Amino acid sequence: MVSAVQTALLTDVVVIGGGPVGLATALSFAQAGGRVVVIECLTQAALENPPFDGREIALTHRSVRILKKIGAWAFIDSAEISPLREARIETGEYQHALCFDTKGYGVEALGWLVSNHVIRRALAHAVAQQQNITILFETEIITSPVADPVVDPMADLVAEKNWGANPWDQKNVVLQTASGQEIRASLVVAADGRFSPTRQKAGIGAIVHDFKKTMLVCRMAHDIHHNNVALQWFDEGQTIALLPLNGLVSSLVLTLSEEENRQKLALSQEDFNHEMTKRVGSRLGTMCRVSSCHTYPLKSVYAHRFTAPRLALVGDAAVGMHPITAHGFNLGLKGQETLVHAALESLMERGDIGAKEGLRRFEQRHRLATAPLFAGTNGIATLYTRDEAPFRPIRQACLRLAEKTSPFKKAVTSLLMDKKKDKKT
Ligand SMILES: Cc1cc2nc3c(=O)[nH]c(=O)nc-3n(C[C@H](O)[C@H](O)[C@H](O)COP(=O)(O)OP(=O)(O)OC[C@H]3O[C@@H](n4cnc5c(N)ncnc54)[C@H](O)[C@@H]3O)c2cc1C
Repeated sequence: MVSAVQTALLTDVVVIGGGPVGLATALSFAQAGGRVVVIECLTQAALENPPFDGREIALTHRSVRILKKIGAWAFIDSAEISPLREARIETGEYQHALCFDTKGYGVEALGWLVSNHVIRRALAHAVAQQQNITILFETEIITSPVADPVVDPMADLVAEKNWGANPWDQKNVVLQTASGQEIRASLVVAADGRFSPTRQKAGIGAIVHDFKKTMLVCRMAHDIHHNNVALQWFDEGQTIALLPLNGLVSSLVLTLSEEENRQKLALSQEDFNHEMTKRVGSRLGTMCRVSSCHTYPLKSVYAHRFTAPRLALVGDAAVGMHPITAHGFNLGLKGQETLVHAALESLMERGDIGAKEGLRRFEQRHRLATAPLFAGTNGIATLYTRDEAPFRPIRQACLRLAEKTSPFKKAVTSLLMDKKKDKKT
């Protein structure tokens, strides 16, 4: 990693946002031989040593393969990786669970749980080994990220540009940071989260679905072993997930209204433990909180477009999923892989990593991979978190039907693992 200096920077790719997807994107482009500048508003310390944020990320087989390929997996201690062998879904008093397991798949786990801060730290370590990635910490871009002569502040670039031409045909983008630094790139990648300021500056709208609930997450120790089984339990007035971590510890994920979760945060440790033990029906014995608690508002986001001239959106900036199906980061990793493939195809065909043909291919492929999942996840989140008629009887009927329909179970299990290898995505 090269430290930043206050001179004009010339690079192949600028990634705005050094979150997990932004760093993975930077690593993928750098491994392909590109020069990458990452713009991150956080400090170096916060990026390299992020604190525990309560999120335990369920990684698919494909995601682990990508993290290995870009050199981040090696920085994750095996003690931090918890195998997920089975997933059970239950609703209310209805006794028959819908189960997904690895039987017949010849694999040791459906997926693996790793804390978000551990993934971020591993990615930052991998980036630190790369000579052709420069990170500008505590930095924000103030200009439009889109290739457009009208917003280009660099007078000396006028000669390079064909004024009045279609912005898709412009040769590069010139960005300016808040401290006055100029960066010229062939491609800008927005990876700055679900409320992406870059997406907004580029004038790209988004579908935002507000579930009007929050998710409270923390780690709980317990007496009875979870056997590496994840439990998702949709009950009246609450949704609880217990995600199995190594040892006698689970991640508790409690979905309630914002006000209810605020009240939970105000409970004493003793009252909190007592209430959570009761809420999960003492399934794992007595529970005891062993980490800080974190809450997240539940809003899903789908960008109207994933590209603009010389700009691509990845990660939550493109698709911010409801966490119920555990696909946000997994889709983010898949999306950046799709983008890098498409950009490299453009480089081979046209000598231009940010050419519109590559961006359009990326957009088509990523839309195909994400739109059904986004709609399906929103549907599941609505059906399973609302108690008024007809939602409750419908979800019991759905579980019964799903448990008996083996092609459906196979399709969902394959989706959970995302094991399929695809040359293009
Ligand atoms: C409770 C919970 C559980 C989850 N569980 C799972 C799971 O099991 N599996 C799964 O796949 N996903 C899961 N997710 C989703 C996953 O956490 C996100 O999809 C993932 O973090 C998105 O990464 P990102 O890099 O796109 O965005 P972020 O993580 O939001 O990173 C964005 C980065 O951009 C930076 N930034 C923002 N604005 C600017 C700016 N203007 N200039 C420069 N930098 C900027 C931020 O500082 C940050 O570093 C879960 C989410 C939650 C809330």
